[in-house]
Amino acid sequence: MIYKTKGPKETQKIASELAKKILKSGVQKHAVTIALEGELGAGKTTFIKGFAKTLGIKAHITSPTFVILKNYKLPASPKLQRGEQTTNYKLLVHIDAYRLKNYRDLISLGLKETMANPENIILIEWSERVKPIIPSKHIGIHIDHTGKDEIKISVKNVTE
Ligand code: ADP
Ligand code: MG
Repeated sequence: MIYKTKGPKETQKIASELAKKILKSGVQKHAVTIALEGELGAGKTTFIKGFAKTLGIKAHITSPTFVILKNYKLPASPKLQRGEQTTNYKLLVHIDAYRLKNYRDLISLGLKETMANPENIILIEWSERVKPIIPSKHIGIHIDHTGKDEIKISVKNVTE
């Protein structure tokens, strides 16, 4: 699916729709992994902010470039537009791989275990830098800058 947006609000709306879809899809065997690619300033963190807000996260999401990984607890019932919805997801994990030299650094942070846990939703910025650790089943998001305040967001559900 390809979307074009003309500003951060529109981008967050797309992210919000994806978050709702994931909540509705129910429990999976493993964590949901969302791999985000795109240049510096493309809109990856902006997208994640919209995603997190829809999951009911009140904390201010910033780019975790200097800490690599941040955990945000999800409330039990995020308020969605059409009424409240309970969710089995418990944790959103935000990773920024920009400064990582090697995907193995994420293994030391316990990411394999985090990815095995179906209660987690993991969003990884600069996922192209840590390809070996991205599970074959994931949601791939590629963001391209196409003009002033305009971006193209490609969302791909990768199953194999
Ligand atoms: P990244 O995480 O990819 O480095 P950010 O999301 O931190 O990028 O920054 C994107 C910047 O571009 C923000 O300042 C945002 O307000 C701005 N911006 C302008 N147009 C858009 C758009 N259509 N979608 C998302 N962000 C946009
Ligand atoms: Mg960022």
